Amino acid sequence: MTCKCEDIKDCFVIEARMALPNQYFVGRIGSKWIIAMRDKKKLTGLKCDKCNITYVPPREHCNKCGATIADNWVDVGTTGEIVNFTIVNYNDKHLPKKAPYILGQIKLDGADTPLTHIVADVDPADVHVGMKVKAVFAEGPVNTLMQLDHFEPV
Ligand SMILES: [Zn+2]
Repeated sequence: MTCKCEDIKDCFVIEARMALPNQYFVGRIGSKWIIAMRDKKKLTGLKCDKCNITYVPPREHCNKCGATIADNWVDVGTTGEIVNFTIVNYNDKHLPKKAPYILGQIKLDGADTPLTHIVADVDPADVHVGMKVKAVFAEGPVNTLMQLDHFEPV
């Protein structure tokens, strides 16, 4: 962007932070996914039978063939394996936990795509790709992805 001030020394930039409260609808599929966690303590996904791919988190269309798979729900395991992870080392009020904590990509048993979530009850120095983990659900209704509170080592 070009400054249109007559003289650049009269142009000012003020550094600020903006709070931006927001909300969004997680959609019919996201809602159904969270309800299964909340009411049945189970994890589900959407499967494309043609491609034999089960998506967790669930998605309306197959990423490979584009077919609508919105009604082809399948149960997946509440256990899985860490396929990637990072250690979050900074605090921000928008983050779900105080640092340091582990954010893992977990491929659940029966799923073909990884779910990114918090991995707890393990020292960050001990977490590794291939580690077997299990889902721990929130006690009461949360009605967000945090209905699945975290994963922990099996
Ligand atoms: Zn497909």
